[in-house]
Amino acid sequence: MIQKILVANRGEIAVRIIRTAKEMDIRTVAVFSEVDRNSMHVKYADEAYYIGEAPSSKSYLNVEKIIDVAKQSKADAIHPGYGFLSENAEFSQRCTNEGIIFIGPPAYAITQMGEKITARRTMKDAGVPVVPGTEAKVQSDEDVTGIANQIGLPVMLKPASGGGGKGMRLVHDAENLPEAYRAAKSEAKEAFGDDTIYVEKYIASPHHIEIQILTDQHGNGIHLFERECSVQRRHQKIIEETPSPLISPEVRAEMGDTAVRAAKAVGYVGAGTVEFIVDEDQNFYFLEMNTRLQVEHPITESVVGIDLVKEQIHIANGDPLAHTQDSLRQFGHAIECRVYAEDSENNFMPSPGKIQYISEPLGFGVRIDGYIHKGYEIPMEYDPLISKLVVWGQNRKSATDRMRRALDEYIITGVKHNINFLKRIMECPAFREGKYNTHFIDQNREFLFEDKEYDEEYRDVAVMATFINYLNKSGDTADTNGNGTFKKISKWREFGKRKSVMRL
Ligand code: ADP
Ligand code: ADP
Ligand code: MG
Repeated sequence: MIQKILVANRGEIAVRIIRTAKEMDIRTVAVFSEVDRNSMHVKYADEAYYIGEAPSSKSYLNVEKIIDVAKQSKADAIHPGYGFLSENAEFSQRCTNEGIIFIGPPAYAITQMGEKITARRTMKDAGVPVVPGTEAKVQSDEDVTGIANQIGLPVMLKPASGGGGKGMRLVHDAENLPEAYRAAKSEAKEAFGDDTIYVEKYIASPHHIEIQILTDQHGNGIHLFERECSVQRRHQKIIEETPSPLISPEVRAEMGDTAVRAAKAVGYVGAGTVEFIVDEDQNFYFLEMNTRLQVEHPITESVVGIDLVKEQIHIANGDPLAHTQDSLRQFGHAIECRVYAEDSENNFMPSPGKIQYISEPLGFGVRIDGYIHKGYEIPMEYDPLISKLVVWGQNRKSATDRMRRALDEYIITGVKHNINFLKRIMECPAFREGKYNTHFIDQNREFLFEDKEYDEEYRDVAVMATFINYLNKSGDTADTNGNGTFKKISKWREFGKRKSVMRL
């Protein structure tokens, strides 16, 4: 059995992986960059090694250094988390060559899925429906126009090596195609070092629904149902839930089977996610496969009752899947909110900085995958994700109510964050009714962004929270227990509505 895992990542996901390893009696090795010296994953792991300067190219993407540390610490496996080296086929292969177990799929599966045009072709051959569009590289204005004529406008121009929602372009008019193609190419080159573009039909009012799969080294494959990820900003997910309010049990089963078939078509081994775009009539089309653990995996864990990291480790160890498709059920409803240090009122601009005060929600059905603490400085070099707040409820309504309550308890001061924005989404009628698609934020702008006054008040409450924390520390009211502090904050909130106190 795997004895020691090196976690080649940082932040909440590094902590989350170490937690499971501890439960499995597996020793853990953390790696850290200059700005992460005091980060939680470093303290929480059994051992920790410095691997380089803050920019990821010098640290978390530094393959030589990471392999060195794995050897030095005698780790027998590496978990790459998400982002960084997780979808790097060469790294997967390098681990294998060095006799280190890569907790993720083999290199050929990553390559097959990572290059999106190849993936579309492979999927089509395997009988998986793909979004109508190009089969080959687009190489000229004529190519783009030709395909657009064939599949009909509007179309999306997408980077073949893309990810993170970057570099996509929607084109409505044929005359704008050449200009959009040029722009898409240079943006793709800049972001991904590859200017290959492909064309897809634009699916109007779509849902982004993805299927979690697990496949082992013995040819077994199962799916763990879907995640609805249509609440997006800049084509990036911000809230995810499961089950999806849109799909029927029949479509769910069909999507699940299709996803397992997609994984098997590339000889996939491990945990993976097959993303689909789904139209209003529940027709689904393959978008891409993410060959790693995903940010939003905890909602699946909540409703299916399976620890996905534990499954990943067992699969990497060569164990056969411990679950059969028939043994799995979705129990209740789960929602995840991604809490970011970002300015929702200013086009979601990242807003790194120092945490002055933090008080996290607790209670039945609440899970936080986070890593920050008071005094922590969120580095500007990485994704400004603060935490993932995940709630479980018996049904969709109770999960939504619970999420609103949890967000209400969540207090962070010192950096701009999106907690208020998330709370407004929980209160938004379209979300509460489960009637939303990928255009949700745009279509509900008035409801989601109008409440400036509330924001002002909340910011003042946040200042008060810091002040109360100071009082507590100075021994004035003595109660430094999180709940006690919170009670006082609620009182201050009422009190704070009086104008005189607002200026405190
Ligand atoms: P998920 O589907 O799990 O949300 P994403 O594709 O949004 O995954 O990315 C997961 C993580 O990896 C995020 O932290 C994101 O910032 C990072 N990431 C993914 N692709 C890229 C990319 N091409 N460039 C920069 N960061 C990326
Ligand atoms: P990435 O690799 O950046 O995650 P995806 O292909 O997964 O790219 O698409 C990300 C998001 O962009 C989708 O969730 C969806 O909101 C939007 N999108 C992508 N392709 C289409 C399409 N053909 N029609 C409509 N929306 C799309
Ligand atoms: Mg995607």
